[in-house]
Order: sequence, then C-alpha cells, then structure tokens
Amino acid sequence: MPHSSTPRAPKLKNAQPFTRKVLAWYARAGRDLPWRRTRDPYRVLVSEFMLQQTQVSRVREYYPRFLARFPDLETLAQAKPRAVREAWDGLGYYARARNLHELAKCVTRRHDGTLPDEAQELVELPGVGPYTAGAVASFAYEKPVPAVDTNVARVLRRVFFGSRLPSPASRDIWRLAAGLVPKNGKRAWRFNQAVMELGALICVARKPRCPECPVRTTCKTGRRIRA
Ligand code: SF4
Repeated sequence: MPHSSTPRAPKLKNAQPFTRKVLAWYARAGRDLPWRRTRDPYRVLVSEFMLQQTQVSRVREYYPRFLARFPDLETLAQAKPRAVREAWDGLGYYARARNLHELAKCVTRRHDGTLPDEAQELVELPGVGPYTAGAVASFAYEKPVPAVDTNVARVLRRVFFGSRLPSPASRDIWRLAAGLVPKNGKRAWRFNQAVMELGALICVARKPRCPECPVRTTCKTGRRIRA
C-alpha cells in the first residue's frame, strides 16, 4: 500500500529540474572510476561487493588486483576459498568475499555462468540486497531501475522531503527513486551514478555542502540555506 505522504515523482515540481541539474553536474564533476568504464556484469558486481563497506580509494587499489587474479565469474567459481580470502585480504568484512564466491558458484550452476539482468532475480543471489541488485541491473545492463544506497537515500530525503518528521520510510524513498529514474537505460545509468556521486561528494552525511550544491535551488533542505 502506498504511504499517504509519499511524494510521487510525476507530481513533484522539482523532479525534472533536479534530474537535469544533477545530470549536468555529473557530466562535469563525476569521478572517472574504473568500474564506471565497464558494463561487464562480473566487473560491476565485484566493484559493488567491494564498495559495500569499503571506501572508494581503497577499492581502487584492490579492485584491479582481484580482477587480475579472478578475471571472470568462472575462474572465481573454481577457486579455492582460501585463494579468494587471500585476494580479499586487506578489504575486511570477509563475509562479502564468501558471498561473492558462493554467488559465482551459484550463477555457474543455475544460470550457465551468466549473471541475471533483472533486479528481482539478482536479489535471490548470495550477498545481494535490493541496492546491489538495482546497481548491477542499472550499471551493467543499463536497466531503468533505481539503486538506492545510503548516499542516494540521504540526497533524496533532503531534496524531496526536507526535514519533515518523521523521516520517510525506506520503501517511500525506493518508490520515489523508481519514479525519478529516467526510462532510458543509458540516462538511468547516469542518473543513478550522479545521485550517488552527489551524496558522496557534496550532500555528505555530516555537513552537506549546500552553498556549492548544483541542485540547491530544487532542494527542500538547501533552499533554506543562504549561499
Ligand atoms: S542543497 Fe544541501 S541538502 Fe540539498 S542536495 Fe545539496 S547538499 Fe544536499
């Protein structure tokens, strides 16, 4: 059942300007990260597992090493658990490595070694939650689906709900994101990356940098702050 106070994207006056501004900003300020240069599902998946609890700078260091050792899903599926753990060493949270390894075996067994392209199927795999499922569907397969991580949730909450209390439920943010995400897959890819990047670089958790934010005029929170 829809939440009675859920803002619906088509009715939100600031939805289109927000999308336009965040995309324009991303085109000039988005970081050139290795996993943004690929649409290879396995490579996107590995980056998403690593980024779950590790900072971008550290993932940048470990990502190419891991891929050099396990260049594809099949190689990873056939690896010994110890080898996977060794390659993950230094990233911490080893449950992710175990899940990734299990996932590789599961996809090899059940899906002929090809990662599914639908979020509903991806979310059934080991270690894959709603965000990772959306991220792989969008970033690898360019599906027009939302991918809401903590950065995206924070940005959308501040822009579209302001400081309204109580804070919107996660399902409301997902519904909002689903309404905002462009229908064109390539544009959806950029939109998801852009909102995430805004949350990582400008709309940060503790002290959002509103005066320099590209979407400030469309943001319920930022509009109240003097530039
Ligand atoms: S104006 Fe401020 S609160 Fe709004 S999105 Fe930008 S940084 Fe976040």
